[in-house]
Amino acid sequence: MSRRAARPRPTAFRRTTAQGPRSADACPCGTGQAYGACCGRFHSGAAEAATAEQLMRSRYTAFAVGDAAYLLRTWHPRTRPAVLHLDQGMRWIGLEITGTSEGSAFHATGTVTFRAHWTAGGESGVLAEHSRFTRGEDGGAWRYVDGDVRD
Ligand SMILES: [Zn+2]
Repeated sequence: MSRRAARPRPTAFRRTTAQGPRSADACPCGTGQAYGACCGRFHSGAAEAATAEQLMRSRYTAFAVGDAAYLLRTWHPRTRPAVLHLDQGMRWIGLEITGTSEGSAFHATGTVTFRAHWTAGGESGVLAEHSRFTRGEDGGAWRYVDGDVRD
């Protein structure tokens, strides 16, 4: 990460150190919980997301805190890119979940539709996506498969 980080952040959530966010900071995914009790426990490997929505939230938060390793780890092997370069100039500043289907502890697949708000270089925008998740028939961990970008 570059050292030109002196300009103010557009969000209350800050990347505090190279080690990532503090456990007590508000989670970027917007649940109102502390990061450590929300997506942080998935990032650290202390727990696995129980639902497709939890995985989606934790992946959004991984983008927000720059955790590329978590994004790769939770990507289905069939669709996972070999490498992932996160755009350090991009700030993810808010997440709205607009719809879900299946994706609970009783399902093998699920979908989550969301709107993720970003700013970059003075511009701002929204990424709207309908994402697909699976955890296989054996009830394993949820994984991101792919998604359709919506206008
Ligand atoms: Zn969270």
